[in-house]
Amino acid sequence: MSFIDSHNHIQDDRFGDSREEILAICVSSGVTFSAVNGTHPDDWPHVASLAKRHSFLVPSFGVHPWFINNLPTNWEETLRSYINETPSGIGEIGIDGWRKDFDPVEQERIFLSQLAIAAEKNLPVSIHGLRRWGRLLELLRNNPLPGCGFLLHSYGGPEEMIPSFAKLGGYFSCPGFFLSPGREMKLRVFKEVPEERLLLETDAPDQNLPENLDRYRLLTSNDTKRVNHPANIIAVYEGVAQLRGISIESLSNLAEANFRRLFAPVLNERAKTSPTDAP
Ligand SMILES: [Zn+2]
Repeated sequence: MSFIDSHNHIQDDRFGDSREEILAICVSSGVTFSAVNGTHPDDWPHVASLAKRHSFLVPSFGVHPWFINNLPTNWEETLRSYINETPSGIGEIGIDGWRKDFDPVEQERIFLSQLAIAAEKNLPVSIHGLRRWGRLLELLRNNPLPGCGFLLHSYGGPEEMIPSFAKLGGYFSCPGFFLSPGREMKLRVFKEVPEERLLLETDAPDQNLPENLDRYRLLTSNDTKRVNHPANIIAVYEGVAQLRGISIESLSNLAEANFRRLFAPVLNERAKTSPTDAP
């Protein structure tokens, strides 16, 4: 059986020296694809080098809505050179209504310029819309979109908006964090996602699972804060299979078909370049 993590940040510093060991655990646990998202030009070289060494890592490059301040002036040119050199998607990009230390107009401008590149090149795009789902729908309705579709990472919008996003090409990704007490309403929405649009993610190292479902107990280097291990994706599959009343095998099959369809432009190119796996 295969498990696919549709959105994470394996390049994050919080994994420190344990990163290779963590990746080996993912592979031995059955993780066949893991979509790694850049957040800022500073971490794109690391994302590219990880994807070069590990064939199961599927890279995306993008400017996250929390990291739009102090961007280098040539960031867009740099982004284009990364996606031209490495078969990749665009992500994580988006708009955010949770943190208030950003100019929303500038955030939208940076989001839309990256979305335009994804549309132009037909690349899958991983979108963050935390507390801005309504505005995001409006923007997606009024701008060119990639033909392959887009991923709504940690979809936290209402059930009623699912058909509208789906009509535009949206895939809905459920994070393990939604298995936490107090998040039942967010989780329940994933019962209504059409099966051909359902995906799962860890968002590791962020969005910890509840302690009882976290099998890895990974901590930051100073051993204080819990860090989400990307192999926790298996617990996410178990939770979502239970929610939808289907077997893990059925969920695994449908999520794999969905991921391969959405990420086809990247996977097809990547198959040609066949990265070598690190020993
Ligand atoms: Zn993320």
